[in-house]
Amino acid sequence: MATRVLYMEERRGQEPDPCYAREFDASVIDRGPDFVILDQTLFYAEGGGQPYDTGVLRGGEAESKVLRVMKDKGVIKHYVDRMPMGTAVHGIVDWGRRYKHMRMHTSQHLMSGLVFRIYGARTVGNQIHTDYSRVDFQPANFTPEDLKRIEDETNSVIESKQEVRIFEEDRVVVHNKIEDRALLDLIPESVRRLRVIQIGSADYCPCGGTHLKNVSEIGRVRVTEKRSKGRETDRIVYELVPP
Ligand SMILES: [Zn+2]
Repeated sequence: MATRVLYMEERRGQEPDPCYAREFDASVIDRGPDFVILDQTLFYAEGGGQPYDTGVLRGGEAESKVLRVMKDKGVIKHYVDRMPMGTAVHGIVDWGRRYKHMRMHTSQHLMSGLVFRIYGARTVGNQIHTDYSRVDFQPANFTPEDLKRIEDETNSVIESKQEVRIFEEDRVVVHNKIEDRALLDLIPESVRRLRVIQIGSADYCPCGGTHLKNVSEIGRVRVTEKRSKGRETDRIVYELVPP
């Protein structure tokens, strides 16, 4: 039995928006020496350059700390400091950490989309953190003026307060609309319906991550460093200034 991933469920005017929900009830359906598998979860499992969520699982009087959440052959494992009592648990996500990741991840969508549109450079790697992030672009050899432009264009979309749209679309439709088809090659052919993220005309791509409702929540992007990673690959490091 697969774990139902609650933050991925389609937005239909739910309150709170699934990506903004912090607490949930679940049942323990399996357990290992130091982890539990739940029937449903709001915890993000590490992947796609985004770190895992932390938080707690409460079962009766006892509380277990969720130390990390990993995907193991498609199975989401919540590693805990001690086993919850019984099978019914109440999960609470550490919201400070998760929200910083949502702001970083959404800003990375925006920057990757804009850089592809302006320079034709693909995102070939990325790692976000709570305090800074890095994105690797190829082919790229950015000048200081390019970095300034990337920062400015990203901030101008943020200032325009674009809504982040999330919806499901047929793979065929996505294939016809997407500019960088390499993004589609990463998703197994068997997946015919895709969860798509769209930020105005700046970004359109399939993604299973956690996103803001509106880019205005990002704040401002400040590029702090560029490093050449060889073979026409440039790494951009940036941080966020709160709104
Ligand atoms: Zn995403």
